Parts: sequence; structure tokens; C-alpha cells
Amino acid sequence: MSAVLSFPTTSEEIISYNPATGEEIGRVPNASAETVENTVEKSRRAFQMWRETSYRHRAKFIMKTREIILSEMDEIARLVSDESGKPVAEAFSAEISPTLDLMQYFARNAQKILKPEKINIGQFKFLGRSSKIIYKPLGVVGIISPWNFPLAIPLGEVVMALMAGNTVVLKPSELTPLVGLKIGEIFEKAGLPENVLQVVTGDGKTGAALVEADVNKIMFTGSVATGKKIAENAAKTLTPVVLELGGKDPMIIFADANLEAASSAAVWGAFTNSGQACSSVERLYVEKSIAEKFTNLVVEKTVKLRQNLGSEETTDVGAMVSENQLKIVEDHVADFEKSGAKILTGGRRNENFQGTFFQPTVIADTNNSMRGMREETFGPTLPIAVFATEKEAVELANDSDFGLTASVWTSDISKGKRIAEKIMAGTVMVNEVLYTHGIGQTPWGGFKQSGYGRTHGKLGLLELVAPQHIHVNRNTLLPDVWWFGYSANAIETFRGFARNFATGSLFQTARLAPQLLKRIKELKRK
Ligand code: NAD
Repeated sequence: MSAVLSFPTTSEEIISYNPATGEEIGRVPNASAETVENTVEKSRRAFQMWRETSYRHRAKFIMKTREIILSEMDEIARLVSDESGKPVAEAFSAEISPTLDLMQYFARNAQKILKPEKINIGQFKFLGRSSKIIYKPLGVVGIISPWNFPLAIPLGEVVMALMAGNTVVLKPSELTPLVGLKIGEIFEKAGLPENVLQVVTGDGKTGAALVEADVNKIMFTGSVATGKKIAENAAKTLTPVVLELGGKDPMIIFADANLEAASSAAVWGAFTNSGQACSSVERLYVEKSIAEKFTNLVVEKTVKLRQNLGSEETTDVGAMVSENQLKIVEDHVADFEKSGAKILTGGRRNENFQGTFFQPTVIADTNNSMRGMREETFGPTLPIAVFATEKEAVELANDSDFGLTASVWTSDISKGKRIAEKIMAGTVMVNEVLYTHGIGQTPWGGFKQSGYGRTHGKLGLLELVAPQHIHVNRNTLLPDVWWFGYSANAIETFRGFARNFATGSLFQTARLAPQLLKRIKELKRK
């Protein structure tokens, strides 16, 4: 008999529960708007000091923090698993390990990525001018994060923001506040100066207060609905935002794919983290000629998955994070059934547990008009549809409001790459699924309703700095010919600029020399 777990939270405090067992695991403050404002104010003061530190100095703290994570790895993995419900194995593989890699990469490379860049300004350089871009820290960066990767998502962003010279206020999800606080605690142990990173726990209201606290940027990861509210709220103060939102990621399997590998990838891509990844495989399109064989392989592998408490080492699929999230999955599965799709395995809550477990579910005979193929499910379901041609596969994949990641499976790599480029998604993988958030060097972010802006990689780091253009004129002896003192002669010069200089050709510009001299003489006379 399954108990419906309800997770009450008072306005002053957030209670954190283990979703697999329903046990309370801690209580944290539900920070008020006033607390958030004070926190941001302290962050602003700390920024005046932190912005002046060298990359080497910042890297020292990141590497020290990294060491602490390594030394407390088991305890951290256990906390992540207890608070989110995910298998402890995934706390290591999808949270701790990729984040440690990201930490060393940005500690060692942020300076190189953000080094000043000279700009080629074409013929202006012959006038004694030069231009370069330098990258300045923004100030206080507010990070608002979800519960599904409670360590990897916020910690990676914290590291990048700090390396860029910003101070950070992190508001973790109200479902995983203890992991959020742990991030703060680890940096504190590493000796990070006071207020350079602060963690404020709380619910959506606390998050909204952070958006309204006049921070210099908001890095938001979460649902489309919240992302829209944040964008609207941030517009009032013109606070820039990066929005990492939901997904409905397609996986396309061609008949020439390695079906053994593709079926294992589909099962992992759909059910890892109990399907609660923004880049989960949520729509699978398989070529008609191999659909039956492939579907059988998927079902065979799904029924072998071991569903259990996340704390068990052999658990493949753990609990879902909350009753609310599980209800969405139940609704989508019910709608699939009502619309004529066929549940091949799973389809129900797993009654062997008290917590929020939903059975890994494979669904056949689906099509893009069904609700579970259009809205984000964010749970352990794998709906399968068939296609006949390459063109149809691309059309089906692109027929979505979302565009986070996608994957194409074929043994013909050129075909894979060609199709990848036709798919509207921020990341398209050939013969891989889901995992590139784990490669800190690559950009992460979506098209369409999956959001805008990027985290990770060079593009992600550039979101955390203000590019400043420095322009120098080494030639102040001569006046600029476009300055005041307009005349028929001036206009003739400007005509020449339009006809000759603006061609970008030095040869053409040379023809302008007599007119330029005439204009300079005219200006000198004034
Ligand atoms: P959510 O939108 O409910 O909450 C995310 C965060 O926003 C939480 O910290 C929450 O407290 C805060 N929040 C809520 N209302 C707010 C408001 N009005 N103003 C400011 N902050 C507010 O999302 P969730 O349920 O925690 O996460 C699941 C969603 O996140 C899914 O849609 C998933 O696809 C998405 N996600 C996206 C990515 C990505 O990289 N694109 C990664 C992980 C998760």
C-alpha cells in the first residue's frame, strides 16, 4: 500500500524530506525578501574586493574546494541521493564526477578564455586607431536552481561565476536545500572570503525576491512557467537573465544504427534520474523497418532495471522527487492510454515502496498529437513512435515547442551530422544521449521554449562577464574629418567615404587621399 506523501512547508521554514522514505532529513529557513536584500547587499560589498583578485587567487579556492569535495565524496553522494531520491551511483556519475572536472577546467582555463581580444577594425587601423575587448566581472550573480541535479547545476555555475570575478547568491530548490547549503559549507571550509558565495534557502518567493534585489545577472534553471515569470520580473530592472528551461528531447533511430547500443542508450536516456533530467529522452522515433525489433530490445532491458531506494548501491532507478511530479507522470500515462497508445511495461506507481516511485514505462503506438509527446513529462516514461523517411524523422523531431537536446542514431556518421544540423535543439548528439551537461567545456542551453543564453563552455563563461570595448586613437595631431564645420567640401568627403572607404578596399580608399587632405586643411583653418 503506498502512502501519499505530503510535504508541508511553513512560511518560516522549509522541511526537507527523503522522497524514497518520506523521512524528514532537515529544516532550513524560508528566507524573507528582507533577508535576500541584506544578503545581496553583503555580496555587493564583497564584490569590491573579489573583483580585484587575480585568476590565480580565485583558482586556488576552487581547487581547494575540489579537494574537500573529493575527501567528503561519500557523504555528499549520500546527501544528494537522500534528498533527491536518485541512486547513489548517479550522485557520483552525474553530479560529483562531472563537476570536479568542470572545476579543474575553469580554474585552469578561465583566464585564457577571458583574455583581452584585439579586434580587426579594418581600415580604421590606418588612421592610427586600435580596438580591443576586455571582459569585466558583472557584480552579484543570483543563481536559482532546480532539484533534479541539486549539486552539479548550481555548483558548476557558482564556480564559473566566481572564476569570472563575480560574487554569488545561490537560491537552491526548496526540495533540495540541504545540498544547496552543503555547497556553501564546502567553499567556507576552503577558506573562500566571507560573503563571496552565500546560500539563501527558500521557496519561489525567496527566488522572486532575489530577482527583484537588483542583482547584476540571474542564472535560472527550472520550468518554463517559472522562467517566464522570472523574465518578466527581471525586465522591470533590466536585469539580464539566462534561462535554462524544460525539454522534450527526441531520439531518432535509423535502421542502420547499432541497435544494441541504441536500445541501451534509450533506456538509460529515458530512465536515468527517474526520467527527471531536462535532457531526458522523452520522444523516441524509430525507423519502421526495425521498430519491432528495437522496441523488443528496449522492453527487455527496461524490465531488468532494479528499482529501489537510492541509498542501495545496486539501484538503477530511484524515487521521483515529489508526489506532484509523480502525478504529472500518472496524468501523461493515463492520457497515452486514453489516446490509443499501448503500455508495454510499467505504467503505474511502484506499490512496493512507500515513497514516490513510478515504474519505468515503455509506451508504443504514440504520435505527436498526444499530450505526453508535447508537454514535458519529467518522469520515467519512454514513448515510441515510428517514421518512414529521413525527412519525416526530422519533421517529427522538430515538431515541438522545446529544443534542448536531441540525438540521432546511425552508423553513417556523415548522415548523422547532416541530420543533426537540421534539428532545432541547443545540442544534438550523434550516437549519444543526454550526457553533455557533464562536459564542462561544451555550451549548454536550448532553443525555443527551452530557454535562452548558455551555461558551461566558453559561451557560458561569457554570460558571466561584461564585454568592454576599449578604443584608442594614437593620432591626435589631425582632426577627424567628420567633426563639425560641415560644408560642401565636407559633404564631398563623406560621399567619398561612402563610395571608397566603405568598400573595405585600401586601393579604393587611396583614391580619397586628395579629398581628405582638402577637408583636413579646411578643418585646420577653422
Ligand atoms: P521550478 O521552476 O519549479 O523551480 C526552479 C527554481 O525556481 C526553484 O529554486 C524555485 O524555488 C524557484 N522559483 C519558483 N518560482 C519562482 C519565482 N517566481 N521567481 C524566482 N524563482 C522561483 O523547476 P523545478 O521543478 O525545480 O525543476 C524542474 C524543471 O527544470 C524542469 O522543467 C526541467 O526541465 C528544468 N531543468 C532544466 C535544465 C536545463 O539545463 N535546461 C536543467 C535541469 C532542470
